[in-house]
Amino acid sequence: MNPQPLLTTHDSRLTTLLPCDHCRGLGVWLDPNGSLHTCPRIEIREPHAPPSPRAAFIVRSLRRLYEEKQAIDPVAFEVAKALLPYSADDPCDRHFITDRFFQWSTDRLRQLHYTIAELRYKWMLPVASRKVAPAGYWIAADQKDFELWFVRAKAALVTPLIGLNCLARATFPVLADQLELDFRRDMSPVEVTDAIG
Ligand SMILES: [Zn+2]
Repeated sequence: MNPQPLLTTHDSRLTTLLPCDHCRGLGVWLDPNGSLHTCPRIEIREPHAPPSPRAAFIVRSLRRLYEEKQAIDPVAFEVAKALLPYSADDPCDRHFITDRFFQWSTDRLRQLHYTIAELRYKWMLPVASRKVAPAGYWIAADQKDFELWFVRAKAALVTPLIGLNCLARATFPVLADQLELDFRRDMSPVEVTDAIG
């Protein structure tokens, strides 16, 4: 990747620019071989709006994957970009993603969960979600946004684990003492995403 840094300026003349249609405002693009490049408009020093906070999270994830020489899944990248316009108040409906990216699959919802799990646990992208209206996915824009989702997601995981532990204790108390209900160790990222959405 070209070492030229992304724009990080807070120059108000740049923040009023529309997001670049070459790179969807990310400042980088991915070629078909999976290599990351600086947006050509930045290369030729055209005025270029800096990434939005959500776009900056995607750029951070891309840079980390690239530097660690991890493969960048182009479908996951497209899903991440598709989530950019959405927020906690106006989340992206899951059917929009499944219809757009996973029409080929016999289990579109499972494919969606695989991709969201990849974005969360491999890309370390803060993809939040909600199962009740307004339901859907969005990239958490800031710490408060992420915290609100995290508290809900944690409760969605912990409540069944407590119930499972009680069931084991009521039925097989000796066995229950031997069990460690550590969901972080026992559950795969996709199972976690299945549970929290
Ligand atoms: Zn651009």
